[in-house]
Amino acid sequence: MKGEIEAMTQSGQPTYLIMLGAPGAGKGTQARLIEESLGIPQVATGDLFRYNLSKETELGLLAKSYMEKGVLVPDDVTVRMVEDRLSRPDCAAGAILDGFPRNLDQAAALDELLAKYNQKVSRAIYIRVEREDLIARLTGRRVCKSCQAAFHVIFNPPATEGVCDQCDGELYQRADDSRDTVEKRLEVYFEQTAPLIEFYKDKGVLVEIDGGLPIDQVQDEIIRAIREN
Ligand code: ADP
Ligand code: ADP
Ligand code: ZN
Repeated sequence: MKGEIEAMTQSGQPTYLIMLGAPGAGKGTQARLIEESLGIPQVATGDLFRYNLSKETELGLLAKSYMEKGVLVPDDVTVRMVEDRLSRPDCAAGAILDGFPRNLDQAAALDELLAKYNQKVSRAIYIRVEREDLIARLTGRRVCKSCQAAFHVIFNPPATEGVCDQCDGELYQRADDSRDTVEKRLEVYFEQTAPLIEFYKDKGVLVEIDGGLPIDQVQDEIIRAIREN
């Protein structure tokens, strides 16, 4: 199966996949699972902002107040960061965009950016999960300080409590995974990000996946969808 999927990325054309879905839908979890078989890296805007924040860069400090409130960081800053990331050598064959675009203006900016290189979005993978499940997933999420891998206290517990399975890093709870901020983030999602589902459906690149299934089954569904299209 791995070979067949690689064939998609070896067609000579870069592949740009978008992971679409609410906070907590499993975008990051799945992006990490498929990046190896696809041979293209996950580009997660939230991870990039948190990395900048941990290094106290200008970008990180700018993003901080927005992230704490659970609202979107301004588009110009976000788009510039993505443009910079996609121009790096490891993205030559494409990327799995996770957490970007998050509104229609960002989606238009991405199209414009890719058009400069004669490229377009290959597929938008929409992971659908019910609202109640999203809240349980987000409030129980634990993230690795070193490699950003996500675990869940009940649904995806690490082998040793508080320790990352991948790199032995320390797990922590994101401040914005608190109940109040989660509610705000979901509101922002349904208002600003959910319209992207129609946007990509209209372009004929949308694939809808039942994200309520266990992690490995969601992965199988995504891989099947990529192969079939
Ligand atoms: P997103 O990147 O969309 O915000 P994550 O991948 O970080 O979502 O997943 C959110 C939380 O839900 C994490 O704690 C993760 O371990 C857990 N999770 C991911 N996929 C599933 C799933 N299919 N079933 C149950 N829990 C999941
Ligand atoms: P989740 O995985 O739960 O969906 P992220 O890590 O993607 O959360 O995002 C965390 C925060 O980072 C968002 O609430 C927002 O403040 C900021 N952020 C991430 N991606 C974007 C984006 N594309 N545009 C604007 N803000 C973003
Ligand atoms: Zn780790």
